[in-house]
Amino acid sequence: MTATPASRPAAAPAGDAPRRSSGRRVLLAAPRGYCAGVDRAVIAVEKALEQYGAPIYVRHEIVHNKYVVQTLEKKGAIFVEETHEVPKGEIVIFSAHGVSPEVHREAERGGLATIDATCPLVTKVHKEAVRFAADDYDILLIGHEGHEEVIGTSGEAPDHITLVDGPEDVENVEVRDPDKVVWLSQTTLSVDETMETVDALQSRYPNLLSPPSDDICYATQNRQTAIKQVAAESDLVLIVGSKNSSNSVRLVETAIQQGARAGHLIDDASEIDEAWLEGVGTVGLSSGASVPDVLIDGVLEWLKERGWDDLEVVQPVDEHVQFSLPKELRRDLRTEAAQKAAS
Ligand code: SF4
Repeated sequence: MTATPASRPAAAPAGDAPRRSSGRRVLLAAPRGYCAGVDRAVIAVEKALEQYGAPIYVRHEIVHNKYVVQTLEKKGAIFVEETHEVPKGEIVIFSAHGVSPEVHREAERGGLATIDATCPLVTKVHKEAVRFAADDYDILLIGHEGHEEVIGTSGEAPDHITLVDGPEDVENVEVRDPDKVVWLSQTTLSVDETMETVDALQSRYPNLLSPPSDDICYATQNRQTAIKQVAAESDLVLIVGSKNSSNSVRLVETAIQQGARAGHLIDDASEIDEAWLEGVGTVGLSSGASVPDVLIDGVLEWLKERGWDDLEVVQPVDEHVQFSLPKELRRDLRTEAAQKAAS
């Protein structure tokens, strides 16, 4: 995901004129990196490895980050595409993106023990889908075709859910009853683009119902808020995140829309091209919700070595969300603690 300086006008974004530094500085966005759902999923795999021993099977990438996946592989996690690849009797962990009920049934048929590390905020959207389907609504799910989260949510009510992949997809939507329609969304979308899609849907269906609370999660929203502020003052924005990480890709898009002259998505410092820094004073930096801080540290070090050593943190919002571990793990950890206490 890149945009070169030549590909966008150098005009200032709406609002106050951006302050461009004459020196070399780095604006570091906060919040950035790990969200509560990713933190919980990664800790779940680590705790499962400690508790039950290797191997532990994980269906799909536990989170969309190459570094995290490789680190867990070294500790004994085995990542598989489908549940049927897991040998009978083994433990399989479902990723933070969530799975459809059919995947749970498949694991049961295969005699597998499961640990569900689906983010509670994704589970919330699943529950909304089930409830509106039970009330016989047509559900318009705003999201990206083929994304794991969308596949999982759609599986909750396949006969009621229609995917709407952006504002341009709205004209293709067909519903049974225009007065009984609700929209839901993937948790990691661009807030602004989603509202464009909702506006287009509302023009077609004036009685369109909205979800009871925001489906785009707090972490996605907070990271977009922070990068907007950073981007308005940056010549170049670097987002650390993997190419298949939806929320990381949205951060690059948001930065460009907000006025950064160029933006690049990188897995780590080794992917930075020195040519990107030509004529650059201020570098904006952030990371997607599946990115550990060690990768940001690597980029800061890389920039410092080249003279970008004036670091400023830009934090428009505080974030203090935490989720408890999946219930299956909590149960076994509690049992073990009780046994140890009794012996
Ligand atoms: S990005 Fe949001 S929905 Fe996804 S795992 Fe993190 S907190 Fe949960």
